[in-house]
Amino acid sequence: MKIMHTFLELGKAYGLTPKKSREKDFHCRKCGGVMRHIPQTNVFLCENKNEEGGVCGHRVFTAKAF
Ligand SMILES: [Zn+2]
Repeated sequence: MKIMHTFLELGKAYGLTPKKSREKDFHCRKCGGVMRHIPQTNVFLCENKNEEGGVCGHRVFTAKAF
């Protein structure tokens, strides 16, 4: 039996790709664009352009920080 030294090896053995991010894309309810997560917070900020050419600026607070 092969001994695994890292989670990366373990992942390879199980056919998983190394995780880049566990974050799911969060879509803006106002404009439908992908929102940007502010690291270490529970805040998602929408920086997509809206129809008027400005920044949407919609913010969403999730239940927990991650
Ligand atoms: Zn938006």
